[in-house]
Amino acid sequence: MGDAGIYEIIDPRFAALVNSHARLERLATGCAWAEGPAWFAAGSYLVWSDIPNDRMLRYDETDGSVSVFRAPAGYTNGHTVDREGRLVSCEHGGRRVSRTEHDGTVVTLADSYAGKRLNSPNDVIVKSDGSVWFSDPSYGIDSDFEGHKAESEIGACNVYRIDPASGAVSAVITDMVRPNGLAFSPDETLLYVADTGATHKPGQPREMRVYDVDGDSVGNGRHFALCADGLFDGFRLDSDGRIWTSAGASVACYAPDGTLLGRIHVPETVANLCWGGPKLNMLHICATSSLYAVRVMVNGHGTV
Ligand code: MG
Repeated sequence: MGDAGIYEIIDPRFAALVNSHARLERLATGCAWAEGPAWFAAGSYLVWSDIPNDRMLRYDETDGSVSVFRAPAGYTNGHTVDREGRLVSCEHGGRRVSRTEHDGTVVTLADSYAGKRLNSPNDVIVKSDGSVWFSDPSYGIDSDFEGHKAESEIGACNVYRIDPASGAVSAVITDMVRPNGLAFSPDETLLYVADTGATHKPGQPREMRVYDVDGDSVGNGRHFALCADGLFDGFRLDSDGRIWTSAGASVACYAPDGTLLGRIHVPETVANLCWGGPKLNMLHICATSSLYAVRVMVNGHGTV
């Protein structure tokens, strides 16, 4: 596949969002299942999870080096960087959402709901008010592959919000089969959430839904896009509100009205991605065994 061949322009608008000369680079490989990239702007480095190998890796953009960031790592999955520059992590092993403080201490933000242990937090975002929102499907307890096999105590897979003042955990979305990646629109009036229920049974969801957000509350959930090939797992939005999402062995780009604009094909199944680089115009892509990057013609928004 030639360099230009990675770009599939489905809607003419996509042509202006990518540069056909921009190459897809493989920055690192050797993972069992790469997930959860998070960009640290202050240090020009990226942290991601290699879930089955129970480790976190670090790619340093300044010299291209790759090293182990933390191992064991509690089978971390999704990560984000909060508004104070701290790492927020979903941990399958500890069945919790944790935060790494500036002094390196790892503290628990949430590990239960209504007195029952969480399943296995999967992906996480931080709203501008400091609240932490995360999905809690069962992938990390379904088997020993990505955590520790166990029964669900809650008996459901929900999206939760952690209140920034009280630390209280509330269920904000309870109508999904396997909520997975999630992201706010730039103005935070919309919350996009992937449902990967099809991993368990044919006929179950392989869609992205969108919900209206009003302060702390979420409602009016509706279908946004269907993933015809593969699954939407993790995604991020650009500064114009387009959605850049994993979709099988590609990153698919959707307009805010749900139109599929185009794809960037990747040699392996994509799990998740994030923006990086000093201008947030570098897509960092976690795809099965490897971390890839490609520079695009738009800039990322919000939680990177
Ligand atoms: Mg995920």
